[in-house]
Amino acid sequence: MNSTPNKIITIEIAYYQVPLEEVLSDAKHGDHTHFELILCKIGCEDGTEGVGYTYTGGKGGRAIYSLLNDEFKPLLLNQDASQIENIWDEMEWHLHYVGRGGLVSFAMSAVDIALWDVRCKRLNKPLWQVAGGANNTTACYAGGIDLNFSQEKLLNNIQGYLDNGYKAVKIKVGKENHREDVERVAAVRELIGSDVVFMVDANYSLSVEQAIVFGKAIEQYNITWFEEPTIPDDYLGFAKIADNINIPLAMGENLHTLHEFGYAVAQAKLGFLQPDASNIGGITGFLRVAKMAEENNLPLCSHGMHELHVSLLASQAHAGYLEVHSFPIDQYTKHPLQLDENGRAIAPDVAGTGVVFDDALLDQYLIKHS
Ligand SMILES: [Mg+2]
Repeated sequence: MNSTPNKIITIEIAYYQVPLEEVLSDAKHGDHTHFELILCKIGCEDGTEGVGYTYTGGKGGRAIYSLLNDEFKPLLLNQDASQIENIWDEMEWHLHYVGRGGLVSFAMSAVDIALWDVRCKRLNKPLWQVAGGANNTTACYAGGIDLNFSQEKLLNNIQGYLDNGYKAVKIKVGKENHREDVERVAAVRELIGSDVVFMVDANYSLSVEQAIVFGKAIEQYNITWFEEPTIPDDYLGFAKIADNINIPLAMGENLHTLHEFGYAVAQAKLGFLQPDASNIGGITGFLRVAKMAEENNLPLCSHGMHELHVSLLASQAHAGYLEVHSFPIDQYTKHPLQLDENGRAIAPDVAGTGVVFDDALLDQYLIKHS
């Protein structure tokens, strides 16, 4: 009888709602009270198990659970787990007609990350080595979701980041009156001094014209990037903003297909790319965007799930900044994010993706599983 060690024999899906310590708000998504985690555990015939996952800001998780459980599970059982790129293509085309990008990309990501976990465990190597091996640390920044914070609370929060060793910070902008945003930007720059890297994120809440007015008003504060100034689909609008202000633009969290990244790189005049492995088709999708960034001389950054992205950014020579996101997924894992004395994030040195969920912490938030 043929030995088939890579054969996928079990797939388990679990859906969690994890409360946040306090309500966090941005300009377009509104209030966040919790985040959703959807885990995909893949078991192979030889006993190797891979764990993948995706997350949301609190909505859509049940639909992702259903896509994984009802659509992808039957497709994947008995397949060869080592054929990651083939499986990626198959998943994409399987649901392309009903779900190109969007939720399907989130579901694909959970599967793909689980398969990479299997791949790394079989090689007995950490993800940062398998994905590229350039380094085991990366520059990072603390990304606040803080638009609802008073200016005093905003500054206390930023001071907390500095106290914890961060050398770069980002705040949300997009208040009703943009003068208030300008005041907050000025106050943060005054607090952090001239050496700390500083970015802003409007979560696509502004018109092109508003973004240009606001961008010009904050140019003097040495802003490293202006993230999602306007709707992410409007690549030419981004280009117009880029042509009119002296701050580089960044986006990626709302680009959920490689084609969208391709058009954005070609047309939007971006300064930084920010893919998120939880919604661009996992590690396979992330590394394809990484290649695109390299070919276009753009620094590769990330959005969200820092406990995984730390390894992916460290692995790439053209890495920019890892976002240390305000959803503390890593607090529910065995390897919460660590910074070194230079404020760089350290990729975990364990075989696999380095993201090992702690059931003892997470189980209380389980909503359903199969
Ligand atoms: Mg953002």
